[in-house]
Amino acid sequence: MKKRSRFPILPCIISVALAILAGCYVNPVTGRSYTVLTSVGQEVRMGAQAFEEIKKEEKVSADQEANARVRRIASRLAEVVGEGVPEANWEFVVFDSETLNAFALPGGKVGVYAGLIDLLDDDDELAAVIGHEIGHVVARHGGKRMSQGILVGVIGAVGGAMVENAELFRQAYGGITNAAFVLPHSRKDEQEADMMGLHFAALAGYDPEAAVRVWQKMDEVSKPEDRPPAWLSTHPTNAQRIADLSEAAPRYRDVYLANKDRFAEQERENS
Ligand SMILES: [Zn+2]
Repeated sequence: MKKRSRFPILPCIISVALAILAGCYVNPVTGRSYTVLTSVGQEVRMGAQAFEEIKKEEKVSADQEANARVRRIASRLAEVVGEGVPEANWEFVVFDSETLNAFALPGGKVGVYAGLIDLLDDDDELAAVIGHEIGHVVARHGGKRMSQGILVGVIGAVGGAMVENAELFRQAYGGITNAAFVLPHSRKDEQEADMMGLHFAALAGYDPEAAVRVWQKMDEVSKPEDRPPAWLSTHPTNAQRIADLSEAAPRYRDVYLANKDRFAEQERENS
């Protein structure tokens, strides 16, 4: 006969609940609220550290023109984000790889792969990609993901102590967390970053409709075997993204037109 674990369950539940309440973050653009247990300072530090490592492991593009272009577009987007991430330390780097991807790390570190830049035709399309990545930073999705890891660990430990056959519980719980808990949140984060990308692009005078073209191009070049089934994927399907962006982009058109000339003039003065 196994002895029942005397795990102090109530204090754990209370401390988890308090942590969730204390770490409630409201996205300044979308108004969506969620738990972020990390501080902005921690995120900025971790993001900067990880970016330094990536820059050592991956080849930074020597293409001055591509780097300057990404920085020019990104600085316009970062300008409109303004106080959205007060402690952000923005850095935009092109990596020399044919990968069709871009990424953002907490605290404002953004990488764009040369392959993706080659696929896109104009500044509006590149602004859609960078705007989406900046969306992840402002939304603090990195901190949110880390917080989920912390909570899954804590709740898993509490639950494991309650059930005698802890191994069975962990197996069942592992399945639940992966398929139903973590993944749908990531998909929502992607959709949120897409909408934030439209918002920032329009404010910075870039055509929000370009985001639709980006995903049409991505869909054209992606091989069917690279597309995981929708229920398994951490990202929305290309078709869903194209549909959502096509529906939302016209709502940002007036903001885009109001800002387009202002930024064009500013760039003419600077050149
Ligand atoms: Zn994303």
